[in-house]
Amino acid sequence: MSTDTIVEVTGLEKAFGHLEVLKGIDMTVSRGQVICIIGPSGSGKSTLLRCVNLLEEPNGGKVVVNGYELTDPDCDLDKARTGIGMVFQSFNLFAHLTVLDNLTIAQRKVLGRDKAEAERIARLNLEKVGLAEKARSLPAQLSGGQQQRVAIARALSMEPEVMLFDEPTSALDPELVGDVLKVMRNLAREGMTMLVVTHEMQFAREVADVVLFMDQGVVVEQGPPAQVIGDPREERTQTFLSRVL
Ligand code: ADP
Ligand code: MG
Repeated sequence: MSTDTIVEVTGLEKAFGHLEVLKGIDMTVSRGQVICIIGPSGSGKSTLLRCVNLLEEPNGGKVVVNGYELTDPDCDLDKARTGIGMVFQSFNLFAHLTVLDNLTIAQRKVLGRDKAEAERIARLNLEKVGLAEKARSLPAQLSGGQQQRVAIARALSMEPEVMLFDEPTSALDPELVGDVLKVMRNLAREGMTMLVVTHEMQFAREVADVVLFMDQGVVVEQGPPAQVIGDPREERTQTFLSRVL
């Protein structure tokens, strides 16, 4: 594994009962890279992402992130996961906590930061996502796009080495998508390592270093966006793109 490899997935297999969802996935991510994962619904994209932080336990293969082998039964998963931020389609904010408290709670409980330090880092990240003035709001007082930006700021407040995004804009009204993508573009520009499951082909084209096309539990094709999206080699990729572009 080269020194700038941050995520290394080898021969990853996952089944739910008899349903084989991941059938031997290999994926290498270098520090600072943006990988966009595209593919039809049900192809295993979310399951792959969830295996990267072991929210799903694989049936076979190996997952190494940031030097931790998460698939090793002796791995300290809590410790390994502090380096991995995740943002879901459905925000998952704590509804009864203010935005600021949403951003400080894990910093305090998991990282042991004191209140002042956690709030300082939280405010920096709220600033970064353009929501500094919403610190005292409750999630329900925000639009979906703002809630998702809070979710991103919350993940960033843990100062992760890599960020996983699972269709972060899919639940949003169309006019709110742009603000979230802008935050993600800026993050990419700052050098954050990102794995992004997305249907936003324009975003993938502009921001991804590597696009990975999945279908039926395998990586059908991967490479730079100009190749995978612009000039796909595989028929399955062509068919998928003709439906979404
Ligand atoms: P995608 O994100 O590409 O739409 P998923 O990874 O969510 O695909 O799902 C891949 C397949 O695995 C689907 O057939 C889905 O129904 C199935 N699946 C996902 N999670 C579970 C689960 N917890 N239990 C049973 N089947 C699941
Ligand atoms: Mg999914």
